[in-house]
Amino acid sequence: MIRRILVVDNDRFCVRIVDEFLSQAGYEVVRAYDGMEAMEAMERELPDAVLLDIVMPKIDGDRLFRYMRANARTRHIPVVVLSGTLVEDRERLLVMGADAYVAKGRRDDMRQNILAALERLDHPPAQPPPVLGLESAMTRELVKELLAIKRHKEAILQAVGEGVVEADGRQRVLYLNPTALTILGRPELELIGSPVTEILTSHHQATLQQIVARFLARAGTKTEAVSLRFRDLVLRIGLTGVVPHDPEGGFFLILQDITDLSRKIVELSTLNTRLQEMERARSEFLAMISHDLHTPLTAITGSLEVLLRENLRTEQGRELLGIAQKHADRLFRMVSDILDLARIEAGRFSIRCGPFDVVDALRVAMDRLRRSAQEKEITLTLSAPDGIAPVYADGLRMEQVINNLLGNALKFTPPGGRISVTVGELATELLVGVEDTGMGVPEEHRDRIFDRFYRVPLPAGMEVEGTGLGLSICKAIVEEHGGRIWVESAVPRGSTFAFTLPKGSPAS
Ligand code: ADP
Repeated sequence: MIRRILVVDNDRFCVRIVDEFLSQAGYEVVRAYDGMEAMEAMERELPDAVLLDIVMPKIDGDRLFRYMRANARTRHIPVVVLSGTLVEDRERLLVMGADAYVAKGRRDDMRQNILAALERLDHPPAQPPPVLGLESAMTRELVKELLAIKRHKEAILQAVGEGVVEADGRQRVLYLNPTALTILGRPELELIGSPVTEILTSHHQATLQQIVARFLARAGTKTEAVSLRFRDLVLRIGLTGVVPHDPEGGFFLILQDITDLSRKIVELSTLNTRLQEMERARSEFLAMISHDLHTPLTAITGSLEVLLRENLRTEQGRELLGIAQKHADRLFRMVSDILDLARIEAGRFSIRCGPFDVVDALRVAMDRLRRSAQEKEITLTLSAPDGIAPVYADGLRMEQVINNLLGNALKFTPPGGRISVTVGELATELLVGVEDTGMGVPEEHRDRIFDRFYRVPLPAGMEVEGTGLGLSICKAIVEEHGGRIWVESAVPRGSTFAFTLPKGSPAS
């Protein structure tokens, strides 16, 4: 038996006259002037039926209807739609699936139709719900236009990439667009009506309260956005008033997902730090190179001067020539590295490939180093399976890589150590490893040592000749061949520098 009716309409006049004639007919009426008030009224006590207007500010009729149907407490309550736009919006309203529809119209007609609809709720026929009051209603073009504008605005809100959450003057959620729901990851009906400061986690509540307080303190003008972390997202949150300068009118909370942007900013700042470090390394390099060029040149010119002046053909003469040659070699290496670097930087670094026997080249390079290794009492070993086919590579450039890796291993391995070179075959590549028992490369420097000019700071008092360019050139050469180069290291047990080269001929 239907007795208690909740009448929901923002048109106060309409609510009053409906209340009057329903009371006269013996019904008990509860009034609500928007969707939010209706929800509150239903929280307090459930009505037997709801008379519901559709076009309302705040939570409109169809959203309230969906809310009621999704909620176990209110699902069974019959709803009579009482709408002033039933003629213009008939098709959309009928698919809602309300229990009856009454078009707003003249007072007497409306009274009769509402009472008839309520009557039928008590004895529902097995027919589709009645639509009452349409006979006397006429389609109004202006209303149609207004409805179209409303729908257009809704479509925009549905489409925007920012999350939009509307809250009323008491900071309760009235509306969320799909982006906001995706960001928040919670069902719409769970969020509608809840305090807007609770839409994230309890951990974020204080921050949201501050944002709202700032908005209220500025009398409802737009606030500066605040960034915060929410789950694995970075959000930018700002508020803007629904009615300018009237905080009572509620606000829109705009949620911007800036996770990608903030990741890019972190990447850029890391890159920037790296660039600054490279710039610093470049200046240090210039200072070092001018010193390093000066020292061997002084030694060479000094030796040659004495030779010319004294015309020495003795033991002392040979010694001076030896000094000149050693320093000239060092100069030559340095100048070659710098020229290579200049070519790489100018994008003029190219390779000329032909058949290249890696194992053979390793053997020759190791033979050349054997004397220096013996002087340092370092054992040099090579292990390679038989029958490794030549690869297609630039022989001179690859020798440069091999010499550099072996030279480094020798430089950074203390006397009595071991350098073991291995060659292995992967599915499509050859793998060369140069393992030493040297000082190793600390983890934080491992990917940096392939940057140009980068050198790991040496322990106080230790000096090792070098420019910091060798590995960056090796990397450019190996990658130009389509291979990879990397280091594995355990401090202080040693390092393994490894590189790969694609197998096969150019045709393959
Ligand atoms: P250079 O040897 O001229 O300094 P590289 O580019 O060849 O320049 O090497 C860069 C840095 O990498 C070296 O200064 C050193 O700190 C580190 N490094 C290279 N090879 C080894 C190695 N085998 N053991 C330990 N550290 C190494």
